[in-house]
Amino acid sequence: MIIVMKPGSQDSDIHEITDILESLGLGVHISKGTERTIIGVIGDKRVLSDVPLELMPGVEKLVPIVEPYKLAGKTFKPEPSVIDVNGVKIGGKELVMMAGPCAIESRDQIMSAALAVKKSGAQFLRGGAFKPRTSPYAFQGLEEEGLKLLKEAKEATGLQIVSEVTSEKAVEIAINYVDMFQIGARNVQNFQLLREVGRSGKPVLFKRGPSTTIEEWLNAAEYIMSEGNYNVVLCERGIRTFETATRNTLDISAVPVVKSTSHLPIIVDPSHAAGKAQYIHSLSKAAIAAGADGLIIEVHPNPRCALSDAAQQLTPGSFDELCKDISRMAEILGREFKYGA
Ligand code: PEP
Ligand code: MN
Repeated sequence: MIIVMKPGSQDSDIHEITDILESLGLGVHISKGTERTIIGVIGDKRVLSDVPLELMPGVEKLVPIVEPYKLAGKTFKPEPSVIDVNGVKIGGKELVMMAGPCAIESRDQIMSAALAVKKSGAQFLRGGAFKPRTSPYAFQGLEEEGLKLLKEAKEATGLQIVSEVTSEKAVEIAINYVDMFQIGARNVQNFQLLREVGRSGKPVLFKRGPSTTIEEWLNAAEYIMSEGNYNVVLCERGIRTFETATRNTLDISAVPVVKSTSHLPIIVDPSHAAGKAQYIHSLSKAAIAAGADGLIIEVHPNPRCALSDAAQQLTPGSFDELCKDISRMAEILGREFKYGA
């Protein structure tokens, strides 16, 4: 259930209500919009049977939430959320570009990728240190050593850094280095891990699983948000279908569907969707045209030598061309993207 407050209701009215809800053991989540405040109530509503909430000062109405996800849904928060990562805003007018190699491999490699993507206009550097590989014999990532190199690259460029965490232990380590956690497709329903990043309060880039429906994905986001962390950015990265020409099938529909049901920002990862560098430009443009708030693109100084996902990583030159196109598109769509550092 949500409690919709009247425009101009007082903070004291809100406190009076939240005190009652908390004393009854209910979870309380407050969303302050430009016009009015909405109080989300989570828990067993039967304890409220004797409380005339609708008669309390400042209350406009009580609305049941029909979607299984509550905090991620638009009923709870009708206006789009803008997630602020150290001043870089995701979900606002400006498009966000996250770019970098699939995995951090060496100081030279990450530094060269960072300088290149910064020069083209990226605001975030990506790079995996804990790699969830399909085979246990494949390169597993440099772990903490990799995160140290990522942080060096941040210091040299001023880029924000995003990196995947695959376990609660990885969260404990990465929290000291990254600006944003990435939860990868394989962990979309690892609920313990989701609660852990929820408790951390740090922004989370939350990928869709290859076989999760949008509703399952939003329910999973609810695990992070129900721990009090609303800094969630969704990322569509392709789903598994019968088609084999691409690694996954990019579900462009997820962008407008998410926009109509959730207030959370959504970005698109065409690299893991396509699995082939030659399709990245087209899919990126399609994603932005569909209303995505940004992109995350794999870029490697020398893709042919990459230790993971070699076929899908763009060269810095090709990424630069893409950024140029995205800045032209942004103008047409009434959004912003600054090409070039
Ligand atoms: C990645 O970003 O490198 C990655 C492994 O992505 P996904 O979880 O989408 O497969
Ligand atoms: Mn990858």
